[in-house]
Amino acid sequence: MVRVEQLNKSFGDLHVLKDIDLTVEESDVVVLIGASGSGKSTLLRCINFLELKDDGKIFLEEVQIEKDSHDLNHIRQRVGMVFQHFNLFPHKTVLENIIEAPVLVKKLPKKTAIEEAKVLLDKVGLGDKYDVYPSTLSGGQKQRVAIARSLAMKPDVMLFDEPTSALDPELVGEVLTTMKELADEGMTMVVVTHEMGFAREVADWVVYMHDGKIVEYGKPDGIFEQPKEERTRAFLSSIL
Ligand code: ATP
Ligand code: MG
Repeated sequence: MVRVEQLNKSFGDLHVLKDIDLTVEESDVVVLIGASGSGKSTLLRCINFLELKDDGKIFLEEVQIEKDSHDLNHIRQRVGMVFQHFNLFPHKTVLENIIEAPVLVKKLPKKTAIEEAKVLLDKVGLGDKYDVYPSTLSGGQKQRVAIARSLAMKPDVMLFDEPTSALDPELVGEVLTTMKELADEGMTMVVVTHEMGFAREVADWVVYMHDGKIVEYGKPDGIFEQPKEERTRAFLSSIL
């Protein structure tokens, strides 16, 4: 469970997040949509403390997290994040990429980490690729390795920031399928995406952000069929 209350964030004079309230219940998938610059990435980055909020409260499993009272590295282990660009280590094999953090950060025995990594690779459909280097993989395969790498830390929640927008169109589906399977298994997820088909099918809730504010929040059917706000309607007609 993740809860954000009255979150505000500015970069200099630019007020990027304005009084954001958002609750993501256990096993829910929340899809964030909104125009470029509306604050979607900044919100995700504040949730896993890659950016520090100016004020407001952030709760993980009902515990309020503050940078002064918590180990932010530990928080980032509990909140997995997958970006548009996969950032795999090029000089490490797929398996080495996945076991790196569990072994170094969580001090998992290497043998256990390898066993778990192989299970994760099977899960993302890459069970036969553990021994290759990332450069030999397609973009969709790299992104699925990045998802497996994030899952290896056994996060409570996964944040996805446009995980498919750098991919060739024919590779988008395989990554969305992996994400859907994760959702079906009950992972708590917050997903920024322009893939409205995914949002309709997989989201429990859709959040429309505009200019740093949550303008509309609802079930996918409601948001897509009958948006209440004119700005939501205008945004959806601009992208659909
Ligand atoms: P996109 O769809 O293009 O990814 P977004 O909704 O994710 O957009 P953000 O990346 O959160 O938007 O950016 C919100 C605003 O904050 C933008 O005006 C952006 O230029 C600004 N911004 C983001 N990060 C920084 C930073 N580190 N320093 C200064 N300004 C920033
Ligand atoms: Mg963004």
